[in-house]
Amino acid sequence: MTRILVAAAVGLATCQVAIFLTTVLLHRTLSHRAITMSGGLRFACRLLTWVSTGIRPRQWVGVHRKHHAFTDSEGDPHSPLLEGFLKVQIANVRMYRRTARDGVTVEKYARDIPADRWDRILFDHAILGLGIGVTGMYFAFGGDWVMTVVAASVHTVSYLALNSAVNAVGHTFGRRPFTGLATNSQWLAWLTAGEGLHSNHHAAPTSARLSFRRREIDPGWWFVVTAQRFKWLTVRHDRPRFAAGRARTAQAA
Ligand SMILES: [Zn+2]
Ligand SMILES: [Zn+2]
Repeated sequence: MTRILVAAAVGLATCQVAIFLTTVLLHRTLSHRAITMSGGLRFACRLLTWVSTGIRPRQWVGVHRKHHAFTDSEGDPHSPLLEGFLKVQIANVRMYRRTARDGVTVEKYARDIPADRWDRILFDHAILGLGIGVTGMYFAFGGDWVMTVVAASVHTVSYLALNSAVNAVGHTFGRRPFTGLATNSQWLAWLTAGEGLHSNHHAAPTSARLSFRRREIDPGWWFVVTAQRFKWLTVRHDRPRFAAGRARTAQAA
């Protein structure tokens, strides 16, 4: 029983690593250029994203930028307003795949991120990356397949559920300090390295920091600040710049 609990804990920890990679690399760095990473950090994040999620950054960026372009209107890949909360929470992966593979979205919205040599050799091969990740877990557990399956399953289910929640909960439940349907939920921000502060993000998409008020906490920002101290990255601007039409309806504390 203890080994199952240990494996589940490793699965949750792996999920959190993938969540931080998602918000810092895929979202804040590649999608919105809020962060510029050094070559070494960027490569490390790409490698870890590959083995922990299998996500192709170009696809994630294309789908996400389309979400910003059509937020909660016709064309949004995963709007709970159009599709319903439960459908986005449960079938977010299907919606993501449908948009990523439509032959238009990635070409149009991620044309500034062309495939490079590393993508062609490694990162575009999702199954290879995930296979390396699972094999690494297998050896870390001393060749225990049961622990490997438990950890990989807990990681996969929790990672997909949390990413779906940003799109579903983050446009349905929570506070709306800015115009639009996107919401802030601190409990979700704790679980998603800051992504639960989704109203803030839609109001100022190029901000590397997602917390704007004193009581808001963005764990992803802690990583950014730490990496900044080591000069591994730079941020685009210190204070949030609000998108047109996103008038602030609440003042910072
Ligand atoms: Zn959104
Ligand atoms: Zn975004």
